[in-house]
Amino acid sequence: MKKISILGSTGSIGTQGLEVAAESGGAIEVVAIAGNRNVELLEQQIRKYRPKIACAADEEAAKRLATAVADTSAKIVAGKDGLIEVATVSECDMVLSAIVGFAGLEPTVAAIRAGKNIALANKETLVAAGDIVMNLARERKIDIIPVDSEHSAIFQCLNGEKSIAPQVDHNKTDDSYVNNAKNYVNSLEKILLTASGGPFFGKTRGELENVTVEQALRHPSWSMGAKITIDSATLMNKGLEVIEAAVLFGVDIDDIEVVVHRESIIHSMAQFVDGSIIAQMSRPSMKHPIQYAFTYPRREFSPMERVDFKTLKTLTFAPPDEETFRCLALAKEAGKVGGALPVVMNAANEVAVEKFLQGEIAFLRIADIIEETMNKYSNVSCNGLEDIIKLDMEVRKTTL
Ligand code: NDP
Repeated sequence: MKKISILGSTGSIGTQGLEVAAESGGAIEVVAIAGNRNVELLEQQIRKYRPKIACAADEEAAKRLATAVADTSAKIVAGKDGLIEVATVSECDMVLSAIVGFAGLEPTVAAIRAGKNIALANKETLVAAGDIVMNLARERKIDIIPVDSEHSAIFQCLNGEKSIAPQVDHNKTDDSYVNNAKNYVNSLEKILLTASGGPFFGKTRGELENVTVEQALRHPSWSMGAKITIDSATLMNKGLEVIEAAVLFGVDIDDIEVVVHRESIIHSMAQFVDGSIIAQMSRPSMKHPIQYAFTYPRREFSPMERVDFKTLKTLTFAPPDEETFRCLALAKEAGKVGGALPVVMNAANEVAVEKFLQGEIAFLRIADIIEETMNKYSNVSCNGLEDIIKLDMEVRKTTL
C-alpha cells in the first residue's frame, strides 16, 4: 500500500487525487491533507477519507475545522507549520504537491528534505526554484514524478529510453533517480509540448481587448482552478510548462517546441535523434497523470474513457501565436535568462492574474504588467531559497 499526503486537497487536482486514491481498491491510502480556506470541504474530506492529519489556512480556520470534526480522531493543524507537518508526516511515502502558485514551494521543499517522493502538480515550484528543487531531489535520491499532463506524457515517452544511452551512470540512474532525462537519454533531440490553445485560440489582440473574466474562465477541454485557467487563456501556462519541462528533463528552452493541438488527445511528444517521435495519448483527464504518478513505475487499471479511433476523425496541429499571446514569449525569455528572472516573472504573473480575476485590470494588461516587472528587475540575482522567497515577496509588493 502506498501512503500519500495531499497539499492542496480542496483544489481541482487535490480532489481528483483523493478520488484516484478512493478508486484504487485500497492500494493508496491518504494519510494527511492540507486545504486552505475551504473549511467545509476539508470537513467532508476528513469524514470521507479519514486522514490522520488535516491542515487549514490559519488558527481561526483550524479552530472552526477542529470543532466541526471533534467526533473524529483527525489531528488539525494550521498555517505554514501545519503544511510542513502534512508534507513531512512520517507515515507518508509520497506527497501530491497541488497547492496553487508560489505558496507550494516551501512545503514541497520540506517534503523532499524529509525524503518523500513527489507527485508534482505545482509547476510554480520548478519555475521559481528549479535548480534548488532538482538538486535537492537528486541529493535525497527521491523521485519527482510530474502530474502536469504534458510532463507526465514526456516522462512516459522517455520510459525505457534511459537504459540505452551510452553515458548511463548506473550508480546514479537507479529506480529512484528518474529525472533529468537529457543527462542520460542522450538520444532525446527535442520535446514537443502540446497546448490546447485555450479559450481565445485564433483571436486577435483587438478581439481580446474587452474579454471578460467569465469568458477567460471557459476553457475548451480542461476543468481546472481559476489561476491556471487564466494562465491557459494567456498562454502563460504553456510558458510556465516550458520552464518546468526544461528543469525536469534537463533540456534547453530552445529544444522545446510548443505545438497547439486543440483536441487535447496527444499530451506531448518526445523527438529522438533518429527522427522518431513518441507521443502519449489519452482522453483529457487529470486523473490519468495523477494515477500514473501514484502507481509509478506500475500501470494500474483505470476506468477512464478510452480514445476511440473509429469516431476520432482528425487531430490538428498549429504553431502558437506568440505576438498576440505574449506571455508565452515572456516566459521563454525568463527561462532562457534564468537566475532570478523566472521568480520575478512568476510573481508578477500571480499578481496580474489575481487583479484580472478581481476585475481590476483588462485581460491584455496581464502581459504588460509581467513585461514591465521583468524589465524593472532585470538585474537582480538570487542565491538560495531564502533569497527567492524574499524576492517573490518584494515583487508582489511592487507589482502594480
Ligand atoms: P485550485 O485553485 O483548484 O486549488 C488550489 C489548492 O491550493 C486549494 O486546495 C487551495 O485551498 C490551496 N491553496 C491556495 N492558496 C494556498 C496557500 N496560500 N497556502 C496553502 N494552500 C493554498 O488549483 P488547481 O488544483 O487547479 O492547481 C493546483 C496546481 O496544479 C497549480 O500549480 C496548477 O498549475 C497545477 N496544475 C493543475 C491542473 C489542473 O487540471 N487543475 C493541471 C496541471 C497542473 P482552498 O481552496 O481551501 O483555499
